[in-house]
Amino acid sequence: MFDYLIVGAGFAGSTLAERLASQAGKKVILVDKRLHIGGNAYDHYDDSGVLIHRYGPHIFHTNSKVVFDYLSRFTKWRAYQHRVLANVDGQLVPIPINLDTINQLYGLNLTSMEVEKFFESVAEQKEQIRTSEDVVVSKVGRELYEKFFRGYTRKQWGLDPSELDASVTARVPTRTNRDARYFTDCYQAMPLHGFTRLFENMLSHENIQILLNTDYREVQDYIPYKEMIYTGPVDEYFDLKPMISRSIRWLQ
Ligand SMILES: Cc1cc2nc3c(=O)[nH]c(=O)nc-3n(C[C@H](O)[C@H](O)[C@H](O)COP(=O)(O)OP(=O)(O)OC[C@H]3O[C@@H](n4cnc5c(N)ncnc54)[C@H](O)[C@@H]3O)c2cc1C
Repeated sequence: MFDYLIVGAGFAGSTLAERLASQAGKKVILVDKRLHIGGNAYDHYDDSGVLIHRYGPHIFHTNSKVVFDYLSRFTKWRAYQHRVLANVDGQLVPIPINLDTINQLYGLNLTSMEVEKFFESVAEQKEQIRTSEDVVVSKVGRELYEKFFRGYTRKQWGLDPSELDASVTARVPTRTNRDARYFTDCYQAMPLHGFTRLFENMLSHENIQILLNTDYREVQDYIPYKEMIYTGPVDEYFDLKPMISRSIRWLQ
């Protein structure tokens, strides 16, 4: 008899499995419908020895020392800070938008204070900020919105920013300094041997059994367990119409 049937071997399910097994002495069966552990953070080496993030690039970043210390039990780290360049009007410029982005794009030589004035001069006044479009045009104006945000957001979400809640783009900062890092968290790194190795180390405990390539609905009546913890998409659990999420198609 298992104490817990945990559905999903991503960060949520694997952390719960590790904690319940190692701290509470519980017997856990961890079920995932994919062929591997790690959820969306799964990575693997290809035939040329290149580490591939199967479901899109994942960068570890947190401000929580507790989280960093916890995961450090299962991996060493490779120092890494994520910097992204956008191809705009034939130039490669930093995104999130910062001082260098504006100077490079418009051939200017503004200071941090001057770029603040620049943003004020192009920003559109909005009575109410409701959509993602409102957030961006009220900060950096319509031209930069069109150049940097509109197409990108449509590609990521399959929706125009005018149809998306303000919170979606509100988390993308606009900087008046030259900080070109994508994230500003205190702890940023990559697991030295990849995320999958980290998960393998988390889950190598005698109280944890792993069942892959299995939808929990196929086995829940046959596996003896006391409690179930589900970490998959909530709309699927309740058989609801799929909720809006990033429109990413996994290609190999
Ligand atoms: C393209 C992309 C880039 C990202 N980049 C970053 C980043 O750089 N840094 C960062 O911190 N986060 C990033 N994220 C977010 C990160 O992937 C998630 O926060 C994290 O994976 C969530 O973990 P989870 O365990 O909740 O879910 P998941 O990783 O999705 O794991 C859920 C698991 O449940 C399984 N499952 C679902 N239904 C069933 C079922 N019926 N039966 C059995 N198993 C089931 C799934 O197969 C899956 O493996 C990114 C996400 C995406 C899509």
